[in-house]
Amino acid sequence: MPMQDFGNGHQYVGGQLRQGSSGETFDVVNPATGDTVETLTLADPSDVDAAVAAAKGAFPQWSGATPGERAGVLNKLAALIEERAEDFARVESAQAGKPIRLTTEFDVPGTIDNTAFFAGAARNLEGKAAGEYAAGSTSMVRREAIGVVGSIAPWNYPLQMAAWKILPAIAAGNTIVLKPAEITPLTSLMFARACTDAGIPDGVVNVVTGKGRTVGEYLMGHADVSMVSFTGSTGVGKRIGEVALRTVKRLHLELGGKAPFVVFDDADLDAAINGAVAASLINSGQDCTAATRAYVQRPLFDAFVAGVAELYQGVRLGDTTDPATDLGPLVSRRQQESVAGFVERARGYGATIVTGGEIPGGDLAKGAFYRPTLVTGVAQDSEIVQDEIFGPVLVVLPFDSDDEGIRLANDTPYGLAASAWTRDIFRSLRATREIQAGCVWVNDHIPIISDMPHGGYKASGFGKDMSQYSFDEYTQVKHVMYDGTGIARKDWHRTIFGAR
Ligand code: NAD
Repeated sequence: MPMQDFGNGHQYVGGQLRQGSSGETFDVVNPATGDTVETLTLADPSDVDAAVAAAKGAFPQWSGATPGERAGVLNKLAALIEERAEDFARVESAQAGKPIRLTTEFDVPGTIDNTAFFAGAARNLEGKAAGEYAAGSTSMVRREAIGVVGSIAPWNYPLQMAAWKILPAIAAGNTIVLKPAEITPLTSLMFARACTDAGIPDGVVNVVTGKGRTVGEYLMGHADVSMVSFTGSTGVGKRIGEVALRTVKRLHLELGGKAPFVVFDDADLDAAINGAVAASLINSGQDCTAATRAYVQRPLFDAFVAGVAELYQGVRLGDTTDPATDLGPLVSRRQQESVAGFVERARGYGATIVTGGEIPGGDLAKGAFYRPTLVTGVAQDSEIVQDEIFGPVLVVLPFDSDDEGIRLANDTPYGLAASAWTRDIFRSLRATREIQAGCVWVNDHIPIISDMPHGGYKASGFGKDMSQYSFDEYTQVKHVMYDGTGIARKDWHRTIFGAR
């Protein structure tokens, strides 16, 4: 029995599911079992044309709707997702190999909260007050929607990424064409269908499922797309930037991360150990903000490594439908090979693998599992410290002075998220000021909230998801200026007419 009925196909255009035109099919595979979940008919550029045309057609009405009307349907959407929470959790778990506990307690509630947040935020678009900024005239600022947004999302949190892309865009009055990752498109399609069921007009939300290089790039360069919003790897982000800027589109890039986790010698060691385990293993480490590099001040180093290793060994890998399972597989065999490759190469250049570092056998061999892996004894400039691995792998390195800890935290090209662990107010203030990242937690690592901005520094991109700040990406401001005098020959006309 199929997980969901996608009856008429896997492209969502103008409020309808339809077949893709490429003639190519693609199997969405559950990476925990190797079973096919759904066979897609992929899009080609003609489907993108149809989706963009639907979005363009829906724009005048949707951008002209009042904030209250937009908020009304978004509130209904939040209620519908809540009603369908079990289906969303089940399909998300199957397509991405996530443990059902994670999708039920994290992905789906996060999406409901995000939807409810943007229903409220739609009524709070801010602007400067109208006023007289030059003698005899009145100025006002209009905050306006941009047009058709072309969005591309990654596979790590398919439902949440779809929501993060769609919600601020449409709350601000834009219409959207989203291309989810080809390996995990199903909950984006379910989200789009829920939008229609909630009363969001046809064409406001469209989803095309297809390959990045063909369909994705075509969407990014489409003449009728006014803004490009991309979440994914830094490498693909650079390519998308080139394509989008060729036609001068508004650009928003949420890219890779390599979050440091800095433990000072006065930290609560137990809290830091628990925090590091949860923050490095969430979603099997396939999280752009996951803790990947722990820098621990020398007096706590050995105890920290021993504590994390012990908890890693107790983590239960297994059946993702079982609520008792802690950790699922990686998203694909390809990702499993990639993660294993980083660890094998590190072994080759002398790393100590404290625990893990292996693909489990037995029953788990049918899935793309990888054991939680703790690595020490590598140089700061080694690949495993510098590059994004996107797997359940934590590297721990010691530091001596506070200066050194902060310097090492900043020493990668990325700047998405970071955490500092200390009970000293001055140390924490310094760390939050000097660490270059879009989010710095103190004594915690991972929680992301709808009301607060999320986005990168440095090679992690620019622009913000979530919160009111996301409207700075998804709106443009227009200065409107009224003459308030009715005088035909104004004072400033002297620049042309002189004293005449
Ligand atoms: P990816 O860059 O390989 O793919 C992302 C999306 O881009 C997919 O939909 C893919 O089909 C598409 N794509 C690939 N090549 C393309 C091209 N040439 N033109 C247009 N589209 C193309 O990333 P991924 O492996 O799916 O996801 C993991 C990455 O996403 C990691 O780097 C992670 O850090 C990042 N990420 C960042 C955030 C954030 O908020 N900054 C959030 C989640 C994931």
